Amino acid sequence: MKPIIMAVLIIAAFAFFAYNIYNLIKLLRLGKYEQRFDNIRERIRLVLVYVFGQKRLVKNYTFAGIEHFMIFWGFVIITIGTMEMLIGGVVPGFRLIPGKAHVAYEFILDIVQLLVLVAIVMGIINRTTIARRREVNGLDAVVILGLIFGLMVTALTAMGAKIALGEADPTWLPVSSTIASVFFSGMSESGVKFSHEFFWWFHILIVLGFLNYLPYSKHSHVFTAIPNVFFQSLKPRGALNPIDFENVPDDIDHFGAGKLEDFTWKDILDAYTCTECGRCTDNCPAWHTEKPLSPREIVVKLRHYASSEGKVLLNANGDGAAVAEGLDTIPGPKWVTEEELWACTSCNACVEQCPLFIDQMGKIMEMRRFLTLEGRLTGSAVKTLQKLQTQGNPWGFSGSDRAAWLAGYEGVNVIGDEGNEDASGFDYIYWMGCYGGYDPRGQKIAQSVVSLLTQAGVNFAVLGPLESCTGDPARRLGEEALYQMLATQNIETMNELKVKKVIANCPHCFNTIKNEYPQFGGNFEVINHTQLLNDLVREGRLRPTKEVKEDIAYHDPCYLGRYNRIFDAPRELLESIPGVNLIELDRKRERSFCCGAGGGKIWMEEEAPRVNWNRFEEVESKNPDTLAVACYFCDTMFEDAAKQAGNEKMQIKDISMILRESVEPDTKS
Ligand code: SF4
Ligand code: SF4
Repeated sequence: MKPIIMAVLIIAAFAFFAYNIYNLIKLLRLGKYEQRFDNIRERIRLVLVYVFGQKRLVKNYTFAGIEHFMIFWGFVIITIGTMEMLIGGVVPGFRLIPGKAHVAYEFILDIVQLLVLVAIVMGIINRTTIARRREVNGLDAVVILGLIFGLMVTALTAMGAKIALGEADPTWLPVSSTIASVFFSGMSESGVKFSHEFFWWFHILIVLGFLNYLPYSKHSHVFTAIPNVFFQSLKPRGALNPIDFENVPDDIDHFGAGKLEDFTWKDILDAYTCTECGRCTDNCPAWHTEKPLSPREIVVKLRHYASSEGKVLLNANGDGAAVAEGLDTIPGPKWVTEEELWACTSCNACVEQCPLFIDQMGKIMEMRRFLTLEGRLTGSAVKTLQKLQTQGNPWGFSGSDRAAWLAGYEGVNVIGDEGNEDASGFDYIYWMGCYGGYDPRGQKIAQSVVSLLTQAGVNFAVLGPLESCTGDPARRLGEEALYQMLATQNIETMNELKVKKVIANCPHCFNTIKNEYPQFGGNFEVINHTQLLNDLVREGRLRPTKEVKEDIAYHDPCYLGRYNRIFDAPRELLESIPGVNLIELDRKRERSFCCGAGGGKIWMEEEAPRVNWNRFEEVESKNPDTLAVACYFCDTMFEDAAKQAGNEKMQIKDISMILRESVEPDTKS
């Protein structure tokens, strides 16, 4: 009778599980197609490192990471025993691991089950102390921890009863044999037999219940994690997906992500993979400054939206288009509010921290596109976009005045001037960016760069009035059409002028030209000023000899550090300056805290408390003489924050300006 009951239970449980997976696949198929089947070798490597190696889980959140590592590997090992139990219930004596190896396996299993119980205790400690701020203590988390606890206890107790009955050798089962002697030593044989059956069946029921609870819980990542990590984006971090305006299907009446079918299948898989661990939100500058945005909530809301609207679409019986027409869009008061979407600085800290490689920021940018291209962007950013469109810079200055300050710089070549018809005679084009061209503080930075390059004998020229905004603010504000207009104009100009290598000191320009222009045929070698200046110092072409006796804190700009992994060159450069005492901020490198300007936010109103204030407080706590930056936006944001804080003592300077103070004018030769 037992094998028949087991067979019925197994078939029913797995059939229901398969039905749930089938429904999930149907939901994924509602999303847009996106090719993620390339570079299989690399994808397998990533699964090995990040799923089986748990690399991101342990990094930065060590206690929680070790806990998860133990539970993950515990489950991998325990699954073999579970399979044996399930199949063995139908085919008595069935074993996946034969012979003496089974004794070794049972020993490992015995220990691992105890370790998983230890991990559960660690999980409770973590959730009630360290991880409390991440709000990870929902009912779902309690149910899952309870089920795992039940699985371990029932398995160990069933084995303990088996030992007490003399049906298992206790020699290599230290945990189960301890349970046998503690709980079953004085018990009657019938009592032990009953206990064994009870715990065995209880264990089986928890296994099958757990299997079918997962698809309805945030722990569905147990089966979606591997595909989600496998299918992660392999494109450069800083590249948003372009909209193909030239091949728009006739039935499309909007752009970006407004409805479920505007997201890709991978976006929907992301939504069903989120464990709600809150690491993304824990690193989000908007969240830390009391804005309504939590990247975790964005993903969770997409999951709820997909479950709700997806069900309606799947039941539409071939009338999906008409039904979709009547459904709510996800950006809207019921799901993701506009305030949430506009609070994002595109700093990418959320994406960087997610152990499951979920792209929260990409979804936010797609929903912004929907809003902006529907004409729903309001406030000062609209004026910025208009000026970008008409004048190619965010303030609406005349294009011919870009880099007018260069008139005082003899020896700097401007493409378009007599004798400089194109860039073919120059090693580099120095891309100064709109701030370097028009903003008084930005000009000082650009002047430092230009004078250091000249002093080192770098063969470079500038585009001057031929340069225009790269389009980064337009793209991050959702105005993809304007972005593409600016990008293609610049690319055409640069290709016509035979530009090959570009020096960009603005990390936003750097990222756009390096990672996004290739999407439109702009393939240029791009170097940041901190990299080039560091190389010039290393080569002895620039010699910082004058002491700068200052404590200097360095702030990693998001688009230079997190996006493009330029962490070491700025630090090495600062350390090459005699007298400099480099101070590291607590939130640094990959975990650097945003200045609040990215994602077009520098052109928008921001309510207090502001992101730059938060970061500046951290800088002040280290009490440096100078805050070194490597980005025009960061420079502006921290200058504002210093004024707000009434701090007149601390200086905010680009690295190039600090280097310039140290390099003696006569060290060129
Ligand atoms: S998106 Fe990733 S980091 Fe954020 S809560 Fe979900 S699993 Fe955690
Ligand atoms: S990109 Fe930055 S600001 Fe935007 S949601 Fe992610 S962490 Fe928050």
